[in-house]
Amino acid sequence: MEIRLDQIGDEPFRWQETRSIAVESLQRRQLLALGDIGWGGEIVRTSFGFLLSARLGYAQILECPRCLGPSPVEVEAEIELLIQPKSKEPVVGELELEEADLGVLYLKGEILDTNPILTEQIQLNVPMRQLCRQDCTGLCPQCGIDRNVESCDCEDVGDPRWDALTALRDRLEN
Ligand SMILES: [Zn+2]
Ligand SMILES: [Zn+2]
Repeated sequence: MEIRLDQIGDEPFRWQETRSIAVESLQRRQLLALGDIGWGGEIVRTSFGFLLSARLGYAQILECPRCLGPSPVEVEAEIELLIQPKSKEPVVGELELEEADLGVLYLKGEILDTNPILTEQIQLNVPMRQLCRQDCTGLCPQCGIDRNVESCDCEDVGDPRWDALTALRDRLEN
């Protein structure tokens, strides 16, 4: 969505839209699927530029780092962003004060493209690790079965990759 900031007067600009974003474009390996994103908000003109506030809600499915199964999450997030058109000189004192708690976007020209803002927000809400459940027992490091659903007779001897590393280190040291 493109918003013409120069057409925002005393009345705030408000919007509500539903967007779908391709998972592949987000470059988050652990994100398996993303539902439609509903978001809405307003942009108000202020003495230092514009203030965008928005709320978004959607569902996402992450890969559980232990069992590699799906881990669904509902996301509710808020965005607060100061938009400072570059043509204007910043009002120094005021801007510095606001910068402490708000993100600031410096914008060339008067057209605000909201797509990068939305994309960034979704990337921020992809956690590094999201277990499918607190007590997920993960995959067996020996035979690879999902220990949440099956059991095996392998002895739990730790991660074999560490053994290889230890052997290598011993060789280098001797
Ligand atoms: Zn899991
Ligand atoms: Zn096993």
